[in-house]
Amino acid sequence: MSLNVLLVEDDRELRSTLSETLRVEGYAVSCAASLADAQAQLQYARPAPDLILLDLGLPDGDGQSLLSQLRRHSNTPVLVISAREQDGEKIQLLDAGADDYLVKPFSISELLARMRVALRHRGLHTQAAQTRYQHMGLSVDLSAHRVKLQGQEIKLTPTEFKLLARLVRSAGQVVTHRSLLLDVWGPEFTEHTHYLRLYMAQLRAKLEAEPADPQLLLTEPGVGYRLADFS
Ligand code: CA
Repeated sequence: MSLNVLLVEDDRELRSTLSETLRVEGYAVSCAASLADAQAQLQYARPAPDLILLDLGLPDGDGQSLLSQLRRHSNTPVLVISAREQDGEKIQLLDAGADDYLVKPFSISELLARMRVALRHRGLHTQAAQTRYQHMGLSVDLSAHRVKLQGQEIKLTPTEFKLLARLVRSAGQVVTHRSLLLDVWGPEFTEHTHYLRLYMAQLRAKLEAEPADPQLLLTEPGVGYRLADFS
């Protein structure tokens, strides 16, 4: 199982870059763009996040209030990501229960390293999610963003890659239409199953020997899709 990260960030561009990068690294990511959104997710979303990335300047308040609330009942690791860089403020946040503090702009590799440390402190390890796949001549390396078929590099569009990546991370398991639409296109697209049909047809045309009789990208009728497993 992937570890779940809740990303609380109102900057749309940063949110999408970070969430995409974290997914490629094998994390399951959910996003919140405001305090209210984050509170709702913390209250209702299951599974609960294993780690929270928390921006401070949010449209409906300060991330620190969420941290204080959370710390009354939870020790989920929280990494603050903020443009504010005064030492006094960092100390205050660490005292309030933040595990770490990264000043924007930060490098992705530093973020990933700090996340691993925070998770290790809670006894959680990050190597569980699958980022490589190899079966029937198809090899996918999500970290390197590389897809090969019989040793030949295959060019995918960004959306095709995201869709394939989502299936690779759950290789062998059925992924529902809704999950695929949510993770690849976003929450406002969960009813648009025609997108899935279209992109799945494109992927099959590129990756299957006989697209009409797929051996890799399998249909689970009425439910979703499954990437054939190793066995
Ligand atoms: Ca902000």
